Amino acid sequence: MASAASRVCESPGCNEIAKLQCPTCVKLGIQGSYFCSQECFKGNWKDHKVLHKIASKGVEGPGYPDQYDPWPHQKFTGKLRPFPQTPARCVPSHIPRPDYATHPTGLPVSEQQVKQVAQIKTLSDEEIEGMRVACKLGREVLDEAAKVVDVGVTTDEIDRVVHEACIERDCYPSPLNYYQFPRSCCTSVNEVICHGIPDLRPLANGDICNVDVTVYHRNFHGDLNETFLVGDVSPAAKKLVQVTWECLDKAINIVRPGEKYREIGNVIQKHAQAHGFSVVRSYCGHGIHQLFHTAPSIPHYAKNKAVGVMKAGHCFTIEPMISQGTWRDELWPDKWTAVTADGMLSAQFEHTLLVTDTGVEILTARAQRNGQPYFLDKL
Ligand SMILES: [Zn+2]
Ligand SMILES: [Zn+2]
Repeated sequence: MASAASRVCESPGCNEIAKLQCPTCVKLGIQGSYFCSQECFKGNWKDHKVLHKIASKGVEGPGYPDQYDPWPHQKFTGKLRPFPQTPARCVPSHIPRPDYATHPTGLPVSEQQVKQVAQIKTLSDEEIEGMRVACKLGREVLDEAAKVVDVGVTTDEIDRVVHEACIERDCYPSPLNYYQFPRSCCTSVNEVICHGIPDLRPLANGDICNVDVTVYHRNFHGDLNETFLVGDVSPAAKKLVQVTWECLDKAINIVRPGEKYREIGNVIQKHAQAHGFSVVRSYCGHGIHQLFHTAPSIPHYAKNKAVGVMKAGHCFTIEPMISQGTWRDELWPDKWTAVTADGMLSAQFEHTLLVTDTGVEILTARAQRNGQPYFLDKL
């Protein structure tokens, strides 16, 4: 075992400082793989060695997908395939968690209780301050993820970084166990529209990869995502990512007291369509505060029937998913991974927003580079 800088042990439930790194992983160029002791390393060997096997076969080597093929009859819409997942990660017990975190089937009971009431909550000054803090921490966590997204890095490694960055900030990673979602963030690669599950697939040169982070801190959720460029990305894919970012930016620009929620979709579809792209219809922006997903529901497509008018103190997300081809989506048998029905690319950006007396505050804005997204750093 080679020595490593201060990290947390990867064996599930162990939160010791990790000083050892798996020598085979180092040799194979696998990121991460830190353990606190030989005991933890050996205890995890059965699950851990799967990583070596996959890395040595390569992404689309002849051993794949024969070696791991959980749904033999699945007709995939594109080239992406599921890879094995690592064992579940734990959150130390001193970190407060939302109700679904400990529910046997991950049901957010508090969200379901208010589901009939379409009322949009107006937050008090104290609640707004709680949202500011949660959203700032969520942004920091996404910034940590942004540092590691690269060719050869698995989405599982991104999930590990997100998970540990949450714990370091006294945050519970909101996706974990939400309706039994198995991981701490969503990673949506290429034709995946949203809700991709981090797994052992190493990112490939030319991929686009969205990382969606939500943290729960002192009773409030902060939610944001960005699409990242992996290595050298085609001009067509870059264009999609750029236009998707512009769609979010233009939508944010109309947010102010008195604006109708249904206008957001008109702005987004107009811009997407002008570039020949389509707007995903199955997934919407949402109200967010003490609840992860609540009223209002905010479609990103035009001529939608969203109810409600923006008012100072409302908190919600805008998170357009824009596709190269069809807007239609399909679900993988894991019941989470939403892919484009034609296998073409889809991109997404998300911010959590607060309506103020004069306009809008972007609670999840990037502190650096005047708030511009990471992909623009690379263009
Ligand atoms: Zn999100
Ligand atoms: Zn969201």
